[in-house]
Amino acid sequence: MKFLDLHAQYLTIKREIDSAIAGVIERSDFIMGEQVAQLEEEIAKYCGARFAVSLNSGTDALYVALKALGIGSGDEVIVPSFTYIATAETVALLGATPVFCDIREDTFNINWESAEKVVTRKTKAIIPVHLYGQPADMDEILAFAKKSNLFVVEDAAQAIGATYKDKKVCAIGDVGCLSFFPTKNLGAYGDGGMIVTNNETVAKYAKMWRIHGQSKKYYTDFIGDSSRLDTLQAAILLAKLKHLDGWANARRSKALLYDRLLGTSQIAQPFVAPERTHVYHQYTIRVETQRNELAAFLKRKGIPTMVYYPLPLHQQKAFSNLRSRTTFPISESASECVLSLPLYPELPDSSLQEVAQAIISFKNET
Ligand SMILES: *Cc1c(COP(=O)(O)O)cnc(C)c1O
Repeated sequence: MKFLDLHAQYLTIKREIDSAIAGVIERSDFIMGEQVAQLEEEIAKYCGARFAVSLNSGTDALYVALKALGIGSGDEVIVPSFTYIATAETVALLGATPVFCDIREDTFNINWESAEKVVTRKTKAIIPVHLYGQPADMDEILAFAKKSNLFVVEDAAQAIGATYKDKKVCAIGDVGCLSFFPTKNLGAYGDGGMIVTNNETVAKYAKMWRIHGQSKKYYTDFIGDSSRLDTLQAAILLAKLKHLDGWANARRSKALLYDRLLGTSQIAQPFVAPERTHVYHQYTIRVETQRNELAAFLKRKGIPTMVYYPLPLHQQKAFSNLRSRTTFPISESASECVLSLPLYPELPDSSLQEVAQAIISFKNET
């Protein structure tokens, strides 16, 4: 069994992908070809926002979103301590300080009450991460941000298509950031990312930043970078976008099957908070005791699992300069008990049964 099988997905859409790739090669407009603008238009529409600007990665999306909002040296940005490194790394790259806060125990998403405790006069923005594909508590975060005069940058790298009160993620805060890393729910065949926003100034800034801050060719208005999504990736993503909602539905029904199969096993299945849809980028259970032993047991049975993430950000060596005496107990316990199980649209239900049975037999033996 594989944790994720990208080749199996390719086989289900081989003709569309092959013809998309062949079309780009035929035109050979590899950089900023017509599919790039088309993808931006379609993703903006899909998310329900006015603008989308494609970039080289999700990390660049976070970086340029913050930069376009004017965040830099001396500023603080609130980041949950339980997320992928890119969420906080980009803050630090800009010369600003990531200020960590804790998460909710049930959803693993940012705890806005913990965020409220770390706000200072220097705080300029907050980055809620829609971890594993479930939207964070956006109403509370928006209210807190409004009160404290903060920008809200959504890290939606794992959550494209997820909704919160009928709004898609990326269209809720000031800027939403997407990743098209191959393993994400909408994955390219290489690196890619995008910002989505209703803020025209931010969109214009990002469009120039990705081509060296140029207003026209060879005329640089500000220092930018080289961060484009190439046409081949855009064409592949356009072909895959048509399938995204179908894949999300398949992920949800498989997640429900896991929920049912694991039923009474004393394993905590993912909790979905009210008024939102989960797109199950990951199906992550909480194993309060012997998580590593369970993972090793499953591995011996040929069942791969993953731990997202084994070390909270406030404990990373790279951030040791920021270390205060603060601890974030929920993040720390999450890193010790989370376990993500194989879940993707092409995974047969029989495999889910195999995984659930193995977990239950481990529980019965221990
Ligand atoms: C994948 C991911 C990113 C970074 O995206 P890349 O495209 O790999 O740069 C950022 N944040 C989260 C939560 C992610 O999962």
